[in-house]
Amino acid sequence: MQQNVIYLAYLAAAVLFIFCLKMLTHPRSAVRGNLTGALGMLIAVAATVPLLIDEARGRSLLTTYGVLLAAVGLGAVIGALLALKVRMTAMPQMVALLNGFGGGASVLVAAAELLRREQAASIDVAVATVASGVIGAVTLWGSLVAFAKLEELKWFRKPIHYPAQQPINAVLGLIALGLCCWGVYDPSNVVVYALLVFVCSILGLTLVNPIGGADMPVVIAMLNSYSGLAAAATGFVINNAVLIVSGALVGASGVILSQLMCKAMNRSLVNVVFGVFTAEEDKSKADEIYGGKVKATSPEEIAMLLDSAQRVVVVPGYGMAVAQAQHAVGELCDLLEARGVTVEFAIHPVAGRMPGHMNVLLAEAEVDYDKLKEMDEINPTMGQVDVAMVIGANDVVNPLARTDPKSPIAGMPIIDVDKAKTVIVVKRSLSPGFAGIPNPLFAADNTLMYFADGKKAILDLVNAIKQG
Ligand code: NDP
Repeated sequence: MQQNVIYLAYLAAAVLFIFCLKMLTHPRSAVRGNLTGALGMLIAVAATVPLLIDEARGRSLLTTYGVLLAAVGLGAVIGALLALKVRMTAMPQMVALLNGFGGGASVLVAAAELLRREQAASIDVAVATVASGVIGAVTLWGSLVAFAKLEELKWFRKPIHYPAQQPINAVLGLIALGLCCWGVYDPSNVVVYALLVFVCSILGLTLVNPIGGADMPVVIAMLNSYSGLAAAATGFVINNAVLIVSGALVGASGVILSQLMCKAMNRSLVNVVFGVFTAEEDKSKADEIYGGKVKATSPEEIAMLLDSAQRVVVVPGYGMAVAQAQHAVGELCDLLEARGVTVEFAIHPVAGRMPGHMNVLLAEAEVDYDKLKEMDEINPTMGQVDVAMVIGANDVVNPLARTDPKSPIAGMPIIDVDKAKTVIVVKRSLSPGFAGIPNPLFAADNTLMYFADGKKAILDLVNAIKQG
């Protein structure tokens, strides 16, 4: 009877997770989706408590409850503190860390199960245990490297390359495969599991380390998917249905996201994981591209330009998130529309530092969702745009993606702002974006650079328009 109630609760949790994913696909329902997912998780945890108490029979209930409450309490406090403290711009790093922790937890749970098992595991459980170890360790260490790259920590600013990178990865992969077979053949061998986790930890580091530029979003989506697959494998190890279902949901949605990102970036998964870029920031190349060709502008000059514009396209990027300029941008959009100008937003699939980053910011500023146009939709009409306003975007409008096959963003489709009659670029300097390369757009004949912090720049522009 009790078992049936638990399974019903797990089923309810799984259904809530599915609704959560569905609602997360649209900004309007995303907050409700989040709450639905949290409710599902609460039900799943609550339903697991009786199982734990059953298992603890013979041990002091105080110890069981104590450990459980301490774990839930500690997790809740850390989660709440992080949610309150983390800057919006640091969200992508936080998501990378959460993926990594998911992988790490899978490794530890599978290890604990291995240690307490009294008889040798059946073949399916043995396979699930090594899968938890492999995927969990790669996810943990790969995600930590992704975190360091997104946080732009000193050693990780540029992809690190070393000789024989691919052969070394291949050897590590073969050793891991051998240890997997050994782990399945001898499922109680803790030393083999520990060695497997160690080798896969190195593999996680070496696989993600050389990746950068336009490939980074794909890797993050893949790590997200891995964290789900690791959880699903651990679900088989401890025979927990809700963990299998939720892990499979995360795994599958991560795979779909990776595919979408690959398509948007014009990459293949194999190319992302095994391709090696040797992008180097070349100072002389930047000097050659910009030398004497960059034209700076002022809010007053832009206000005059906008006075005669009929169609304006705003291209937001990571800098808009850093400057927290989304509300000012929303205000500018309202002001221009009140003057009869058509305003649209061109959203590049990897603008910012996480999928949907720009959509979230613009939804926060209550910009009408219908004004947001995807890259494929807006690009064919960019030739009819009077003013393209690039606000804190760089890589996603860099024409080198079309012209330089050696560039880390080579082949990535970009928003064709260079085809607009006039391009205004709002940023603080000529510094490069995430891919670390110069941008010939800034020196183009039809481009004017508005050097300022994104929020201040737009607020000054709004004032100039009002006064003009
Ligand atoms: P970029 O990182 O290319 O450029 C951002 C620009 O914003 C910088 O050049 C910077 O110039 C400017 N900026 C920073 N702070 C401010 C500020 N306060 N005010 C105004 N401007 C500012 O951003 P994009 O959005 O164009 O491209 C995203 C990049 O991130 C791509 O390379 C993508 O592959 C990568 N990426 C994307 C992920 C995703 O899922 N979306 C995940 C991981 C990586 P300056 O310092 O001169 O102001």
